[in-house]
Amino acid sequence: MQTAREFAESNRDNLLRDLKRLVDINSIKGEPAEGAPYGTGVRTAEEEAFRIAKELGFEKTVDCDGHIGYAHTGDEEKFLGVIGHLDVVPVGDGWDHDPFDMYIKEGYVMGRGTGDDKGPLLAAMYACKYLFDNKIPLRYGIRVLLGCDEECGMSDLDYYLEHYPEPVFAFTPDAGFPVGHGEKGIYSADLVSAPITDGKILSISGGMASNVVPDRCTAVLDACYADALRKAAENKEGYAFSEEDGRVTVTASGKAAHAGSPWGSVNANFKAVSLLLEAGILEGEEKRAAEFVCSVMNDVDGGFLGIAAEDGRFEKNSIIGGMIGLTEDGRLCLNVNSRYNTAIPADEIEKNIEKKAAECGFEVRNVGNSGPFYLEPDSPAVRLMCDIFNSVTGRNDRPFVMSGGTYARKMHNAVSFGCEVFGEEGPEWVGSAHMKNEGQSIDILVKAVEIYAETLMKLQEVDF
Ligand SMILES: [Zn+2]
Repeated sequence: MQTAREFAESNRDNLLRDLKRLVDINSIKGEPAEGAPYGTGVRTAEEEAFRIAKELGFEKTVDCDGHIGYAHTGDEEKFLGVIGHLDVVPVGDGWDHDPFDMYIKEGYVMGRGTGDDKGPLLAAMYACKYLFDNKIPLRYGIRVLLGCDEECGMSDLDYYLEHYPEPVFAFTPDAGFPVGHGEKGIYSADLVSAPITDGKILSISGGMASNVVPDRCTAVLDACYADALRKAAENKEGYAFSEEDGRVTVTASGKAAHAGSPWGSVNANFKAVSLLLEAGILEGEEKRAAEFVCSVMNDVDGGFLGIAAEDGRFEKNSIIGGMIGLTEDGRLCLNVNSRYNTAIPADEIEKNIEKKAAECGFEVRNVGNSGPFYLEPDSPAVRLMCDIFNSVTGRNDRPFVMSGGTYARKMHNAVSFGCEVFGEEGPEWVGSAHMKNEGQSIDILVKAVEIYAETLMKLQEVDF
């Protein structure tokens, strides 16, 4: 019998050939069409993945109304799941080459989706071929889920879980090796004040995304406040002013960071609003609203909102105010994004924030809340996967937890598993996930085939 390593090595060229078939399809989310809720690009990629799955020997492929697809072999009641995604993020500027024309350069496959997530997903599909070719007895069926909307909210997996049975255990090759056995909860919402009449802030705008501490915020006021603002900003860094048409614009600069690790960042929204308060310009309800949003942003640990906590598994809780603005009806609106551990249940996170906001005259709108998941690092599956990774690669890495989210969080028994390898980021001309010149190490992909094949074999022996 061929070893998984021999199989992976001898299929290197086939893997790259099939990866090009997927990467060359522009599968950025698009306008919904008949049978293609996420656009025709994603749907085309799904069809191509089905063709590849059949060539690799899967017994059947099923399209779930264009939301997600799967390739399956074996028992359809108790089966192992692998879930990756075929959709990709927009390309942005600055590429050296067409992002949808995969090519090979110095040991890397280059193109949008090579690393996130078409390459890792295809590696897992090839791993299944190893089991099929070598007639490995399957106590559990194997289902590879072909996600089509991972990057924009994972509605694809929601759809699947509503209509189809869940795997007894699943992994998603959409993060890092060895094993991501926990992910923090993610809460986001708009904190909205009552309408402010005769406010001094004519407009305010900071931040581009909920999950990033903003490094820039601008506020516009009547020019009569320019002197007071300049005075308040004396001896402080990161403020700039401009005057035009009887108005003064304050631009506050900060230091950006991801919402998952905001410590050490400087929130430009906070800097802008706190300057307005220090300058003594704001009054009444506008002043109270500004004080509230400043208190929220000033306490990254979430103490002010009653959600600060540690659990000894993850980092402590965090919350940031990623975006600020005025609504059309003159309310101050702060979008917040919290990453929380298992110390406070998901519904209590919501309640505590709701309560504090209400006390301060704020409403909570547009709540999104996805609770944390945590599997014990010494649970059989996690240990097994970590050991296989270490033995195949000769490394000695430990399972990890993270503040970002993968598909694993939506299932009852799932982890993230590859394909990034810590400390092997590659040369600087290789972009990482979501960046320009996205690329993926071919050696790691081939190793991943071996790791996944060993894993899918050994998981057959674990009781789920
Ligand atoms: Zn991904």
